Amino acid sequence: EARKSGWGRVRVFEWSMRQRAERVMDLETNLRLALDHREFILHYQPIFDLKTLAPCGVEALVRWRRPTGELVPPDEFIPAAEQSGLIIPLGAMVLAEACRAMGRLRRGGLGGNPFFMSVNLSARQFTQPELVKQVVRTLRDERMAPGDLKLEITESVLMEHPESAMLKLRGLREFGVGIGIDDFGTGYSSLAYLQRFPIDTLKVDRGFVSGMDEYGNRVIVRSIIGLAHSLGCDVVAEGIETESQLRDLAGLGCDLGQGFFYARPMDEAALTSFLGKEEGARGETL
Ligand code: C2E
Ligand code: MG
Ligand code: MG
Ligand code: MG
Repeated sequence: EARKSGWGRVRVFEWSMRQRAERVMDLETNLRLALDHREFILHYQPIFDLKTLAPCGVEALVRWRRPTGELVPPDEFIPAAEQSGLIIPLGAMVLAEACRAMGRLRRGGLGGNPFFMSVNLSARQFTQPELVKQVVRTLRDERMAPGDLKLEITESVLMEHPESAMLKLRGLREFGVGIGIDDFGTGYSSLAYLQRFPIDTLKVDRGFVSGMDEYGNRVIVRSIIGLAHSLGCDVVAEGIETESQLRDLAGLGCDLGQGFFYARPMDEAALTSFLGKEEGARGETL
């Protein structure tokens, strides 16, 4: 009897493993097709100056637009793209498209100076040996000023192989590209390395910002701001959803912000009109 149910369990286990593996393979196949069919699009979320509320950059965020019109968020496909290696062509597409969009904004007279385009790099993208060359080549092909680009990398990716990360960061910095550490505070950073890495920006993870009414989170946010400034970096607070969070962060000396309170991620047409309105409003008050 016991043996019977044991077998049963093994069968169920095998079956669900197989189902899972098939689902992963389906997703990979679909991602490959989606890439061929250009179903990946970028949305852009404005990043703003907490003191003046002026937009000072945008973060490019990829979405998968299914033929049905459904927009699939990145958390649902980036891990599979990362695992399958598809993140490499997908990431190259994202970088090139973000540069092109930046060119269109600039030609349209939008985006003050300085104004940056932030692009996320996953672990596998950052660790590819040709990364720096690829970024340099893309910027040249798209005729984008290196100083207009910021790359966002998480601390765990940097700290995993800090010495090779250092070489890459230096290569990017020498070329003039900005470096931001994304989701800061959620991983493990060696302060010794943080101090040596050529970093421009720390992005405080959304979790600390949304929990800022708790004393513990507020302490963390304040510490990250202090740390960033001592390292000579500026700080972006992610996920600002309320005016009181915004005021609180500005009071703590946080430089920049990003979140639904100011603007949600939007397509390029909406971004163009958003930036146009912002600049119009600023022109009037000057
Ligand atoms: P991330 O880089 O930390 O991006 C910020 C995420 O927070 C975005 O989610 C954005 O929509 C969301 N967000 C911004 N403000 C608020 C807010 O006020 N409230 C809330 N609840 N959320 C807010 P999204 O677009 O779903 O992206 C999720 C993650 O996927 C990104 O986190 C990033 O790690 C990854 N990702 C997105 N685009 C790319 C890409 O092109 N390449 C790579 N490698 N990863 C990407
Ligand atoms: Mg990011
Ligand atoms: Mg982030
Ligand atoms: Mg985040």
